Amino acid sequence: MNDETIPASNFIRSIIDADIAANKNQGRVATRFPPEPNGYLHIGHAKSICLNFGIAEDYQGTCNLRFDDTNPHKENIEFVEAIKRDVHWLGYDWGERVYYASDYFEQLYDYAVQLIKKGKAYVCDLTPEQTREYRGTLTKPGKDSPYRDRSMEENLDLFARMRAGEFKDGEKILRAKIDMAASNMNLRDPAIYRIRHGAVHHQTGEAWSIYPMYDFTHCLSDSIEGITHSLCTLEFEDHRPLYDWFLDELEVECHPQQIEFSRLELEYTITSKRKLTRLVEEGRVEDWDDPRMPTIAGMRRRGYPPAAIRDFCERIGVTKSSNNVEMGVLENCVREDLNVHAPRRMAVLHPLKIVIENYPEGQSEELEAPNHPQNEEMGTRRIPFSRELYIDREDFREEAPKKFKRLVTGGEVRLRNAYVIRCDEVIKDGAGDIIELRCSYDPDTLSKNPEGRKVKGVIHWVSAGHAIAAEVRLYDRLFSHPHPDAAKEGGEFTDHLNPESLLTLTHCYLEATLADVLPGGHFQFEREGYFCVDPDHSRERPIFNRTVTLRDSWARIEKKNG
Ligand code: ATP
Ligand code: MG
Repeated sequence: MNDETIPASNFIRSIIDADIAANKNQGRVATRFPPEPNGYLHIGHAKSICLNFGIAEDYQGTCNLRFDDTNPHKENIEFVEAIKRDVHWLGYDWGERVYYASDYFEQLYDYAVQLIKKGKAYVCDLTPEQTREYRGTLTKPGKDSPYRDRSMEENLDLFARMRAGEFKDGEKILRAKIDMAASNMNLRDPAIYRIRHGAVHHQTGEAWSIYPMYDFTHCLSDSIEGITHSLCTLEFEDHRPLYDWFLDELEVECHPQQIEFSRLELEYTITSKRKLTRLVEEGRVEDWDDPRMPTIAGMRRRGYPPAAIRDFCERIGVTKSSNNVEMGVLENCVREDLNVHAPRRMAVLHPLKIVIENYPEGQSEELEAPNHPQNEEMGTRRIPFSRELYIDREDFREEAPKKFKRLVTGGEVRLRNAYVIRCDEVIKDGAGDIIELRCSYDPDTLSKNPEGRKVKGVIHWVSAGHAIAAEVRLYDRLFSHPHPDAAKEGGEFTDHLNPESLLTLTHCYLEATLADVLPGGHFQFEREGYFCVDPDHSRERPIFNRTVTLRDSWARIEKKNG
């Protein structure tokens, strides 16, 4: 990715341009990213982060990180910390501008009191079941609650007693008094406050036993922070009248504009926090940062560079129409970034030993290999060559069709960055399985194209005596269905988990230069793909994760099957 790229315009930027031209908000642009700390961030959130922080950067505005923390039963400090880590890692900085909706609990309480005083809110004693029943349906208007006409004094008293903890959970709620016949169900006297005893909130502890609802909290938090453009996903479109109703009734100083855009949906995975939580809790994946998860933490562990994710978010655009994106688009962004930045190395994933019989025993030499085929500035490294090597089993066939360009019995192949070898003999065990190849090398073939020499293929290798043994984890898509959520065949999204999403190879051999790498380091294992060093990696137990294959192998499979 080119960091200098001018961001593509979109309808939200057009709205902002027009607002600036009209000097709305005195030309100020203030956005926010408002996660609920009830899970880890995923690729969908990355879209929202890039949009909100990106707009703030480009318009010299501000972007707040605001935790939307009104549900203490589901939220916790681990999630708060993980969210901060992930936003930073993606490349964005909120500076001092980190806020919590819970910072405003006292103010929000006062706003609720104001609504009661205006006759625009009441305490309701209907049970949750009754409330549902009274609400009506899309085709049937709701019915007024029998508590709707309580006096202002009674409402004030009851609300104060709700706060004081006098009532049980669910016994009473505070509701906005709007219109039980509204065609928009969100306006049928929505709840503003509910009672929640016994929760210890990660910010406010046990100070509160009533908690404000999302719709009430969100617009007022935006207003308190002086947000100008409140960007959210389309499912909130029907909530916008309520967003505006609260701000109009309360006559606040700042009335932000809510603008909706479509959620990112990525094929072969899910972007629902609730479902991702299930995968973690049911042990279907290792944890939130399992490299197969579409979480930012998972993608980091998988080896996706943050710049590739930003590039992806830029490419998919921001619109109101559905944003269903092929996994290949994200993987291509990752490939393009790593192709430029990842040094090349050799690693043998399915080792087959070969002995070069005309190479002296006990001898070795160092050959020079470029770290990047197109970028000389990345320099070279020295790799040991000796009598005993490993090549990949896949690169040898006893007999093979003409188009097989690798090693066959009696045939020649070039070892990458080294000599041409010939396979002279195949050694098998009692069961007939190949355990070793006897080969010979041509010492005059070190330079790339010695005269009159035609060798069809080039394969990778490592020196057996120098290589390091490592575990390599091959990750694939988490689901085998492009839309696990909507799949007709299965009862549940978990029915479509891909049983082959992780293949662990415990006996791989890597070139010796990979002995001193640090977690997070990226490499291209030549002819195999891009790999990164796992956080659990140590010198004693090296672990590498496959980030992405060299080519989009799924596109081919789909063509074949389709
Ligand atoms: P929940 O399932 O808990 O409602 P959520 O995905 O809406 O989850 P939030 O923590 O409320 O989670 O999201 C923070 C912000 O990220 C919101 O503004 C939300 O609109 C945005 N966001 C969430 N998912 C996506 C997505 N798939 N694409 C784009 N933006 C998203
Ligand atoms: Mg949400």
